[in-house]
Parts: sequence; C-alpha cells; structure tokens
Amino acid sequence: YHLLAIETSCDETSVAVVRDGSDVLSNVVSSQIDTHRRFGGVVPEIASRKHVESITVILEEAIREAGVTLEEIDAVAVTEGPGLVGALLVGVVAAKSLALALNVPLIGTHHIAGHIYANRLIGTIEYPALALVVSGGHTELVLLREEGRFEIVGRTRDDAVGEAYDKVARALSLPYPGGPHIDRLAHEADEEIELPRAWLEPDSYDFSFSGLKSAVLAEINRANMKGEPIRAKALARGFQMSVIDVVTTKALRAAAEFGVRQLLLCGGVAANRGLRERLAAMCAEAGLPLLVPPLRLCTDNAAMIAAAADLKWRRGEFTPLDMKAEPQLSLEAWSVGI
Ligand code: ATP
Ligand code: MG
Ligand code: FE
Repeated sequence: YHLLAIETSCDETSVAVVRDGSDVLSNVVSSQIDTHRRFGGVVPEIASRKHVESITVILEEAIREAGVTLEEIDAVAVTEGPGLVGALLVGVVAAKSLALALNVPLIGTHHIAGHIYANRLIGTIEYPALALVVSGGHTELVLLREEGRFEIVGRTRDDAVGEAYDKVARALSLPYPGGPHIDRLAHEADEEIELPRAWLEPDSYDFSFSGLKSAVLAEINRANMKGEPIRAKALARGFQMSVIDVVTTKALRAAAEFGVRQLLLCGGVAANRGLRERLAAMCAEAGLPLLVPPLRLCTDNAAMIAAAADLKWRRGEFTPLDMKAEPQLSLEAWSVGI
C-alpha cells in the first residue's frame, strides 16, 4: 500500500510517498529558509503564501519521483498540528481535496509523532521506548510504553532548545536558523565560558533554557559595556555544553527509571553534532540502543508524517473530511486507540 503525506506546519513544504509504512519512495522538501532569513525568523503570512505557491509543484514532483500513479495512493496523510495555523491550513486543504478526489481515507497526523516515528524509517522501534524530542518549538521526553501511545514525562517550561539556539545565534549576529552556526562555533572553540545548567527539581524531567539564554545575553552586554571583544566561540561552546549536559543526563535518567529498551533522538536539533556524539557515547556506556535519523529525516519532512500516519492506517483509524488545522494539537490525545 502507498501513503501520500503532506507537511506544511512551518516553513518547509513537503510531500512524500511511502510504501508499506517505511519504504520511502519519494520525500520532496522545499525549504523557505532563504525567504525568511532576512527577517531573522519565520514570518507566518509569508510562510502560508509560499506553501500555496509551491504545494502543487511539490505534490507532482513527489508522485513523479515515487514512480506511482495517483490511482495507486491508498490514503492521504497530513500534518494536522501543531504549527502555524495558516501554514497548516494549506496542507490540510490540499490533503482533503486529494482524499476526496481519489476517494481514499484521510489521516490527520501529529507533527511531533512524525518527528518521533522518523526513526521507524531507519530501524525497528522496540517498546517501551523513550523519545528525546528537540526541535524548534518543542523539547520533550516522550515515553512510548507501546506503539503509538505517547506519554509526555518531561517538557520545557519556557524556550524550546531550537528556539534558544536561534535566539543566542541572533544575539551573536549569526544568520537564521542559528543552530548549525552555534554547533560549528562550539566545535571550533578552544576555550569555553562556563554557563549555568538548569536542572530544576531533583526528580523533574522538565527543562528550562531561558536562564541559559539570559546568561549568554548578559555576557554579551558585559563585554560590550567594557568595550571588550565578544568571545563568540567560547560562548557558543559554553551554551552548547550546558544544553547537551542537561538534555542527555535527563534522557538517560528517564530511560533508566522507565526501563526502556531504546532511546530515540528526534527533531531538528537532533542534527546537532555535539548532541549526537555525546548521546551516542552515553548510550553505548549504558548499554542502551539508540536510534538517530539521518539529517534529512531530522528536520521537517513529509516521510516522517507518513511513518506516523501508518500507525493509524494499520488500525483503520481515519479522520473525517471536516478535519481542521489544529495549531495546539496534543500529542497524547493523538495516541492510537483513543
Ligand atoms: P517543531 O517541530 O517543534 O514544530 P520546527 O519544525 O520549526 O519546530 P525543526 O524543523 O524540527 O523545528 O527544527 C528546526 C530547529 O533546529 C531550528 O531551531 C534550528 O536552529 C535547529 N537546528 C538545526 N540544525 C541544528 C544544529 N546542528 N544544532 C542545533 N540546532 C539545530
Ligand atoms: Mg523548519
Ligand atoms: Fe518540526
């Protein structure tokens, strides 16, 4: 069977065709980063308009690249939320029209379930599993006691990791999105400015990154006031080390407490070299199997949406055609069987 999936929750327009749940026949991604860069972040109105302009072309390209005909599509999956409402709407309208025209089921899909199940495209997930979700809008520890059952055991109380990366990068006058630039500077640094770690309560799996971000800004201000040069590399390294220490330590502690068989890393910040390396080393030491998608499956793409939608396809859980875009869709409520 073939699932066609559409993702337009933020600034990537993507369409994929996936066979039998995990065989990616095409995964076309058109990024708007170049458009948004000059504004230093995603401008929602522009994102919606760009999705409208490109969705048809991307759809045709995904079908052509997959080497299937529209008649061979068995269901249409689409990101229902969370995300920017205007951006989501473009994908939702396209998906509904296509499902109606082809007379196949529609599967509204959770964006973060997609990031998590991107791991199914590269390996077999063993349950119970724990997902460390680090993206532009989310930082969460998600426990999966069984397939398709999401339980958030920890989440950020303020900024998401990716958001903190982007804000710190902006303060250092680096281009948007800043994550990759901070990652690079942190690796080039030969010294480190020690920054605080927000552990929160001893038993908490929650995160907080606004204090860390403020510490970076304070250091930049201090240097400016004194007329000293800004030690961007040392700051980038200090910031990255604080983030990595906290997220990896909490993930490993939760993995031990819940006795999971696997750790899944996912979301755009999973592209971070420092994080991948540290987590791999810690998991190896703990004897905990780790799955990490390749970079193109870490950032927003439609193949991951098909991978998550497949959970519902196999159970025959479809979405009515009056589905709406849900900017605040809950992950736990999207679990299968409820
Ligand atoms: P969400 O998935 O929460 O809705 P999103 O889709 O905007 O948010 P993603 O596309 O998953 O987020 O990830 C984008 C984020 O990943 C940006 O904040 C970007 O800076 C960050 N990022 C990308 N590469 C790296 C890297 N190498 N190191 C750190 N952060 C990175
Ligand atoms: Mg994006
Ligand atoms: Fe995302």
